Amino acid sequence: MARVYNFAAGPATLPEAVLKEAADEMLDYRGAGLGVMEMSHRSKEYDKIIKTAEADLRELMGIPDNYKVLFLQGGASQQFAMIPMNFAKNGVADYIVTGQWAKKAYQEAGRFITANKVATSEDKTFSYIPDCSDLPIDENADYVYICQNNTIYGTKFPVLPNTKGKDLISDQSSMFLSEPVNVSDFGMIYAGAQKNVGPAGVVIAIIREDLIPEETPILTPTMLKYKTHADNDSLYNTPNAYGIYICGKVFKWIADMGGLEAMKAHNEKKAAILYNFLDNSDMFKGTVEPGSRSLMNVPFVTGDDELNAKFIAEATKAGFVQLKGHRTVGGMRASIYNAMPIEGVQKLVEFMGRFENENK
Ligand SMILES: *Cc1c(COP(=O)(O)O)cnc(C)c1O
Repeated sequence: MARVYNFAAGPATLPEAVLKEAADEMLDYRGAGLGVMEMSHRSKEYDKIIKTAEADLRELMGIPDNYKVLFLQGGASQQFAMIPMNFAKNGVADYIVTGQWAKKAYQEAGRFITANKVATSEDKTFSYIPDCSDLPIDENADYVYICQNNTIYGTKFPVLPNTKGKDLISDQSSMFLSEPVNVSDFGMIYAGAQKNVGPAGVVIAIIREDLIPEETPILTPTMLKYKTHADNDSLYNTPNAYGIYICGKVFKWIADMGGLEAMKAHNEKKAAILYNFLDNSDMFKGTVEPGSRSLMNVPFVTGDDELNAKFIAEATKAGFVQLKGHRTVGGMRASIYNAMPIEGVQKLVEFMGRFENENK
């Protein structure tokens, strides 16, 4: 079996052990005589799958009891509307715009409420995280919103913003479970699964219970109310049952790897290999200010579009795939999520070194 090293930003590489176990259970889930995709979401077997997934996630992240864990659909993008629809009691929220996903969230919120852009790094193509220690937070703001790791531009907040007492809502899609986080620092954390934890189509939302309104401040479809899903343990309607099952296996895999502290060490090691190479290369350059670098998404360029294209083509042939940068940025991007082994990054860097020598 020839598996490539997949550096895609998402859908992205998954742990091989998880895929193999899922393959083994595809036709017959643990003696049930049918697979998880064919199973009722109201069955005893499935109830155990989703409850275990939630319990394992709570354990991994140390999620306090006063937070709900929801498995939702609609992609991370659907949260861009759900968040203002559910939380904007005063109809005002503050957005820190550090990339395309935060910008989309900000623009979507603006359709429903007054969304303030309180900081941005668009002046330098989102290549850094602005100083967020003393922002003009609106005293009526219902929340402050960030995208904590910017998948496209490869930045991550080195410290959380000072929200001046407002609840912080964080899109952690491309850093979810990559390192420990203190859940109590947030009113809500959410993540689309397809970056670091599972297949596309699952969104995990962790929300402090008191924030979930009985009635939304804006007329909101039943399916877009957090309360609907919170009251029904994510089983109001048919969930993405198979996707949640795979996420559950990834949670167990992370626990087997030693939990989030171990995951962080593993990710720091990989990122250091790549950033060290970039910092010492004459051909390849990272595009992000060192203090704002992501552990997960590493964009880089040669400064020459033809050379970039040649590199991507040769890398692909050599089994390093999906290294093309986002269509809005160009260049290259290596996404090195949890499931990317250290050897994958070591071999990529060796390949880049050879390419540099041969193309001087
Ligand atoms: C990919 C991504 C999204 C959008 O995810 P969809 O599930 O495709 O809607 C939002 N935010 C971040 C940080 C992402 O990386």
